[in-house]
Amino acid sequence: MKSTMQTTPLLISSLLRFGTTAHADSEVVTWTDGEPRRTTYGEVGTKAAQLANALRGLGITGDQRVGTFMWNNAEHMIAYLAVPSMGAVLHAINIRLFPEQMVYVARHGGSEVMVVDNSLAEPFARILPALPSVKHVIVNGPVPQEVRVALEAPEQVEKVHDFDELIADQPTSFDWPIDLDENDASSMCYTSGTTGNPKGVAYSHRSNYLHAVGVAATLGFTQADRLLIVVPLFHANAWGYPYAAMVTGATLIMPDRFLQPAPLAQMIGAEKITGGAGVPTIWNGLLQYLDAEKPDVSSCRMLMVGGAAAPPSLMKAFHDRYDIDIVQGWGMTETSPVGSLALPPARVEKGSDEYWRYKAAQGRLLCGVDGRLIGPDGTEQPWDGEAVGELEVRGPWITGTYFSNGTESAAEMDDIAGKFHDGWLRTGDVGALTADSFLLLTDRAKDVIKSGGEWISSVDLENHLMGHPDVVEASVVGIPDEKWDERPLATVVLKEGATATVADLRKYLEDKVARWQLPERWALIDEVPKTSVGKFDKKVLRQRYADGELE
Ligand code: ADP
Repeated sequence: MKSTMQTTPLLISSLLRFGTTAHADSEVVTWTDGEPRRTTYGEVGTKAAQLANALRGLGITGDQRVGTFMWNNAEHMIAYLAVPSMGAVLHAINIRLFPEQMVYVARHGGSEVMVVDNSLAEPFARILPALPSVKHVIVNGPVPQEVRVALEAPEQVEKVHDFDELIADQPTSFDWPIDLDENDASSMCYTSGTTGNPKGVAYSHRSNYLHAVGVAATLGFTQADRLLIVVPLFHANAWGYPYAAMVTGATLIMPDRFLQPAPLAQMIGAEKITGGAGVPTIWNGLLQYLDAEKPDVSSCRMLMVGGAAAPPSLMKAFHDRYDIDIVQGWGMTETSPVGSLALPPARVEKGSDEYWRYKAAQGRLLCGVDGRLIGPDGTEQPWDGEAVGELEVRGPWITGTYFSNGTESAAEMDDIAGKFHDGWLRTGDVGALTADSFLLLTDRAKDVIKSGGEWISSVDLENHLMGHPDVVEASVVGIPDEKWDERPLATVVLKEGATATVADLRKYLEDKVARWQLPERWALIDEVPKTSVGKFDKKVLRQRYADGELE
């Protein structure tokens, strides 16, 4: 029997329309080195319409790509709403990649118009000659004459525009098309490509819509929330926060380029932040600052952490010292990205051992995300919290393939096909699932240390080490070993003035992990190298070891 329901497509324009009218007074606050810039959702809606009109004038009439090269700020949010709503595809480019990777990603996406922050115009001008599809550059904020000249120089560039000037005279309303297919692309992000070239994921209106509602509902956002989005808008959809904010009317605080612990702490105090999102290194840096400076962060109830395993010691420190609930989430660019969120069941007493066991897990798979574990023998494993396998997922906001622009080689197409298994996405993450749907990741398949036929979880060793009072960061990698195939190398960053020795750290681990898992090799380093989105860069550590730098 067919339903009697209407089949209105789920479109980003309906999030835009709802958010900017129902929650017209909610704010987008952009941090600066002076007074923060404040704008309301109502004004964001008006500017989104003006930007859409301007983009039509620049030839964006269909599903062409419009790229951004921006920090998190109000104008980026405006582009996030306007571009998909008008039927085009937003491609937020990771500004922290190596230039060759940026060029690869931008060329592959093929944007015709690029919106660029003035503070990033110079690095963008350096890669622009290599981007043949870009006809128009819209610069957000003033730039020195020589930078403008550099942006205008490449042959393919028809014109360089100033964001405010371009939209100033445009009509303040736009006829957002309602006949778009909800399954058409609305935006795209690339994985960071730890092996081979980065791969593009094209989100649909439907996937982004459902993901936003799922994230907003699971985290329980309301209009009273004031959310600090540290996770970049170019990193996996900013974890759904921009669109979830439209659903709920939560105010957004955008840190722009001020991502250091001191300004982040200042934002929390001054803007009465209630929640936020960022990778573990961001909150770890903030914790050190809070401990040293003791600023007021009492407004904050929740900080979401994801992208890498959250050390339990970090979560406990925030809980014990600042009454802030660190909520771990798991996901990938390919999963929009939120696949699970670690919210312990209501029956579990806050602060109990059971509570911390739940918090240390990657979390409960969200309603709509279907998971299964495939063991080393290729069979599906039970959800008993013990049996381990590679996690495979499927669902309405999980990608079913990667974006191909027709230039991929046969080997690349084979590689893409290998990431999927009978309609399921192979995550490359290894772990267990509990009967109540909690994901317990051991490691990434490529980071797990294979020692004498047994597996050592690098994450487990790191979490224990980061629980030592003298340790700020610890990253463990497998290095080749003649006898055991691989053995762990522990790299550790000590707190300033700390006196712990390698022998102390090893002793500290002795009653926490099995003896055969204890690392023999150690390196005390100044900083763990980070990827473009702030995760521990294990590839660099392995390379440094191979180059003889870490002994
Ligand atoms: P990249 O591969 O460039 O890091 P993503 O940001 O998409 O790109 O990373 C996804 C991966 O990050 C996951 O497959 C997983 O290995 C890791 N990850 C994300 N969240 C967590 C978490 N809470 N715990 C452990 N690993 C995580």
